[in-house]
Amino acid sequence: MSAEPYRCRLDRELYEDLLSDPSVARTKKQLERLAEEGENASVRRQLLATSLRLTRGMSPQLASIADECIEKLGVEIPLETYVYASPHFNAACVKPENGRLFVMFSSSLLEAFDGPELRFVMGHELGHYLYGHHDIPIGPMLRGEAPPPPELALRLFAWSRYAEISADRAGAVCAQDDAAVARALFRLSSGLRGSAIKLRIEEFAAQVDEMQVEDAKTAIPRNTQDWFSTHPFSPLRVKALNVFSKSALAVDGGFDNDTLESRTQSLMALMEPNYLEGKDPIAETMRRFLFSAALSVASISGGVSDAERAAFEEFFGHDSMPDTLDSERLRSLLEERIDSVLESVPAPKRVQVLHDICVIARADDHIDEPERELIAHIAERLGISEPLMEVALSGDVELD
Ligand SMILES: [Zn+2]
Repeated sequence: MSAEPYRCRLDRELYEDLLSDPSVARTKKQLERLAEEGENASVRRQLLATSLRLTRGMSPQLASIADECIEKLGVEIPLETYVYASPHFNAACVKPENGRLFVMFSSSLLEAFDGPELRFVMGHELGHYLYGHHDIPIGPMLRGEAPPPPELALRLFAWSRYAEISADRAGAVCAQDDAAVARALFRLSSGLRGSAIKLRIEEFAAQVDEMQVEDAKTAIPRNTQDWFSTHPFSPLRVKALNVFSKSALAVDGGFDNDTLESRTQSLMALMEPNYLEGKDPIAETMRRFLFSAALSVASISGGVSDAERAAFEEFFGHDSMPDTLDSERLRSLLEERIDSVLESVPAPKRVQVLHDICVIARADDHIDEPERELIAHIAERLGISEPLMEVALSGDVELD
């Protein structure tokens, strides 16, 4: 069997596009050089030192789950599984080393997830490997000393969300149990254990419908740290899998690939920064707000740096930044535009703009105290919670 047919089309397209990007290629080269020089400690050595390797004898259940997933997805590389002590539900797949692949689970996940839920998680992690997701060094790029230009950063974010969709599909193919898949995603996002969850996939996914309602009063749902991180919001993943489960890839007589991909894309559009081109009044309000917020943040501490100017002009076009900036006027304009946002822009989209403001502010590699304070003020006025703001500020990402 092969996992290739299940791969999300936009994952593949964005992946190819990113692989041919010069700065992606440059980062890859640097990492390879570091590895050759032995600068990066061996992954396996690290794992053996910090985690417990799960042999077949220790965990026959996990071993047979791995066997099934390997068979279903056509994994052709020896796999080693590890467990590490952590109260958080988490799993990850590490880039292969010396012809061996490593998947690790947190202890709490292994204890709380039942068989079909574990099959989903295992399939998801193997999917990351099979689709070559390790080929794009997104973590080092976004965390590196020279952050990528905003346009590239946003493409990296978009790609990684579609990469999660592909991995989810691989997981669903392994689990063959839609309810267990939804339960696993629910557990991962809520941290809840136990078998008491009477979860209906529709109820969880309904959170997405709420998001789609263009209602300025929409509260930001809790537990949405993955808004604007590399991961799609969990209910969105359930919804995307729901679409997948009705396609011909998952069921006889299901709808065709084009329908699957366009439905998936329209769901994911909820997380795309497409307001930069949008012609509707909400997009216009968001753009005007981004314009003055980005200007205010960039100029608040000792003038606008070249990197900030370049980042700004990537969003708004060549020569779009005014030559002289009257800081008082800028500030009052900003407050007015926040008012307009509060009147018409739904909560999730506000988070989106905040994220873009942070991308521009980070262009010169750091966010200093006055910038941080202004961003915190903007977040507070927009009703964006502190943890959510921290995620936007850090621009931190993990592909797990
Ligand atoms: Zn993942």
